[in-house]
Amino acid sequence: MNALGPEPAPAEGARLDVLRSNLTAVEQRIAAACAAAGRPRSDVTLIVVTKTYPAADTRLLSALGVTDVAENRDQDAAPKAEECKNLPLLWHFVGQLQTNKVRSVLKYADRVHSVDRTRLVSALSAEVGKTGRPVLGCLVQVALEGDPAATRGGALPADVPALAEALAAAPGLRLDGVMAVAPLTGPFAGDPVRAFDRLAEISSLLRREHPAATMVSAGMSGDLEAAVAAGATHVRVGTAVLGVRPPLG
Ligand SMILES: *Cc1c(COP(=O)(O)O)cnc(C)c1O
Repeated sequence: MNALGPEPAPAEGARLDVLRSNLTAVEQRIAAACAAAGRPRSDVTLIVVTKTYPAADTRLLSALGVTDVAENRDQDAAPKAEECKNLPLLWHFVGQLQTNKVRSVLKYADRVHSVDRTRLVSALSAEVGKTGRPVLGCLVQVALEGDPAATRGGALPADVPALAEALAAAPGLRLDGVMAVAPLTGPFAGDPVRAFDRLAEISSLLRREHPAATMVSAGMSGDLEAAVAAGATHVRVGTAVLGVRPPLG
């Protein structure tokens, strides 16, 4: 069956071929990393980060069997999600989230990976309450830079327990786990293996109090193997599937 319907136009067909072959390569990397770690392939979900790419690509990815996509900027994501709302996709929001964008993001996001402060917990919970939408899965984003001034979003490890507590207690929200980006500065700079091991430690402490919070969202195009080795359940891959992004405008 061809989920795209009629024959794609030539340009669309060429793009489909590129995405298919990139997806195959990423799939092979994930499978090899799982095998090396002695983990079943089904332990790890691939989330394709579609930021900066058009809705047409998201549609092609869906036709190729992708089930999970992620976006990091609401201005880019909102119209794209609207265009793709008929597709069987789960939408993950993975970027820094300002409280004034919460209403818009909750129109399409099934999960938010970037919860890093209690003010955001309150704003998300209030908005879910107002709209009556289904419960929102949330991850605590952990900053592994060590220096609060150097972080690009994320809660310091010491602040994770209290934030997780607030999240777990907030009506309309569900604490699903933790998320991190390998840091460019600090003690783990250039060492994603140790960074993701630290995240795994934080996850295991969290699960003592919140056993259902099993998601570990870690690993991107350059370091997904290290993340899978450290126990990531979700990898967020953009460039390796869609190509190098043009600089943000
Ligand atoms: C862009 C982005 C990714 C994907 O990064 P690639 O290196 O393109 O795979 C993953 N996670 C977050 C939070 C991102 O912003």
